[in-house]
Formats: sequence, structure tokens, C-alpha cells
Amino acid sequence: MNISEIFKKKKVLSFEVFPPKDNTSYNTFYNSISALKKLNPDFISITCGAGGSEKTEVTLEIAKKIQTEYEIPALVHLPGIHLTKREVSIKLQEIWDSGIRNILALRGDKVPGIEIQKDFLHASDLIYHIKSSSPFHISGACYPEGHQEAKSFNEDIKYLHHKVNIGAEHLISQLFLDNVHFYKFLEAAHKIGISVPIEAGIIPIVNKKKILKMVNLCKVSVPKAVEIMIEKYGNDPVSFRSAGIEYAIYQGNELLKEGVDGIHLYILNDADTAEKICKELSGY
Ligand code: FAD
Repeated sequence: MNISEIFKKKKVLSFEVFPPKDNTSYNTFYNSISALKKLNPDFISITCGAGGSEKTEVTLEIAKKIQTEYEIPALVHLPGIHLTKREVSIKLQEIWDSGIRNILALRGDKVPGIEIQKDFLHASDLIYHIKSSSPFHISGACYPEGHQEAKSFNEDIKYLHHKVNIGAEHLISQLFLDNVHFYKFLEAAHKIGISVPIEAGIIPIVNKKKILKMVNLCKVSVPKAVEIMIEKYGNDPVSFRSAGIEYAIYQGNELLKEGVDGIHLYILNDADTAEKICKELSGY
């Protein structure tokens, strides 16, 4: 199933999961996928570390199982920065042979100590390569507050436009904690001529340490309401988690009311949290 087609029929709900860190966690992981299936996601995306060829193998194996055994369309993340053209061509063939038709084409995060290959310095290079060699449906990443390395928001939007012009048919946003940034981003994207579906990426703030790390890493701004939450519940993990879930429900419902194309939940393999949020989302 081509992901963009789903947006023509409904508002999309998707989840992002990451491969288990070790072999012993696979049972737990697939139990989560079973629980997620009950929430009727339109697709599940599976992250892939940018550390090279081995990483993509694990992601592909999981994607294949999600699609064939759980019958949920899978979107495979493919970061190109540490891969050569030849390696990507082999991967594309493997992905195609697995029956997966949807790829999230990424530059990827640079992994210290691993050589950067020159073939795919930007996601657009990878999109161009995929488009010119195979009929995959391609998604891309976008950044409501601008990518952390971009010289300016406007420059980032121009590169995003280029990414869409050469073949990205659907975009998933980086996490953001203040919906205002997403609305401003949508306005700018539409103004420049981007018309593909754009999903809003929401992360439930359920763990103080993890969220602060992510916010710093991705240079995401923290609104007053979240600052207050951190201050109030920062030393009480149970209340913090409940408040974080409530905040994600609030963010999601506001976005749905504003008519967004869809919501991509960064659920970090936590099906319980996903269930609590999805139960309260109205508009699907
Ligand atoms: P690009 O689109 O290449 O953009 C990167 C930077 O380069 C931006 O600053 C942009 O403005 C600039 N740029 C773009 N094109 C050009 C150009 N032609 N010339 C000059 N500058 C240019 N990372 C992983 O490693 N694995 C994952 O599974 C993963 N999943 C993700 C899922 C989502 C939904 C998102 C939003 C991000 C994900 N990431 C993942 C992180 C992503 O790889 C990083 O944010 C990375 O730094 C940028 O990737 P990109 O594909 O957006 O890059």
C-alpha cells in the first residue's frame, strides 16, 4: 500500500518503533506490535541507525514481519550518509524483494567513528537515486523549527521543497512541543509550494531525562506549559508520565481540530502509552 494514498481517504495515524537493543527483547517488542495493531495504525515506521549496512538488515527484518505477519503497512527508514551507492542499490533490491514499498529516505545522523560516504550527503541525493532506479513510494523528514544544522529556517524550507520536487511524496515532522511552531511551518511549506501530506510528529513526554536529552539534541523549544510540568513533576516519575500523556493528548486533539493530515506518534516501543493517547484522540 502506497502511504500517500491513505491520506486521500482519511486522517492518518502512524507509530514509530525502533529495533530492540538485544536479542532477549524481541518477545517484548512483538508483544508491543500486537498491542499497537489493536489501535488500527495506518502504518508503522521502523527506525534504522545510520551506522551502515548491518543496521538496515535488522530494520528490514522487522518491517517484513510487521507487514506480513501483523498485516500493518511498514515504512522502512533508510539513512544514506554512511552507505555507498552500491550498498544502497543492494538494500533497495532486498527491500523490494521483501514486499516493502515505502521508504523514509534520510540523510541520517552522523555516527562518530564511522566514515561518511560521499554518495548521499543529503537526503535529496538518496531520493534522487531511489527514484531513478525503482518505483518505491518515498517519504522524507521535515523540521517545524528548522533542522538543527540549517543556517536558517528559510534555507531549510528551500531544501525541503527541493526534496519534495525530486520525489518525496509524504513528509513526517520532527517532534515539537509547541503546536504553534507546526502551524507556522505548515504555512511556510504551503507558501513555497509544498503540497504533499505532512504528518505532525508527536512524542509523549513520559520520561524527564530522555525528553530533556532529545530537546537538546534536536534543538526543540520548550513551551511554558512543559516547563511547568517539569518543575512540578520532575521528581515524581509516575505523575510526570501521566502529565506527559495528557499533554500529548492535548497536542494531538488541537492538531486534529486544526485539520492536520495525520499524526505520527514517536511511541518509542511503549504500546501502553500509545493506547492511553489513542483512546482519547478525537477526529479519527
Ligand atoms: P536532509 O534533508 O539532508 O537535511 C539535513 C541538513 O542539510 C538540513 O540542515 C538541511 O537544511 C540541509 N540540506 C538539505 N539538502 C541540502 C542541500 N542539497 N545542500 C545543502 N544543504 C542541504 N536518523 C537516523 O539515523 N535513523 C532514523 O531512523 C531516523 N529517523 C528519523 C525519522 C524522522 C521522522 C525524522 C524527522 C528524523 C529521523 N532521523 C533518523 C534523524 C535524521 O536523520 C537527522 O535529523 C539528520 O540530521 C537529517 O536527516 P534528513 O533526512 O532530514 O536530512
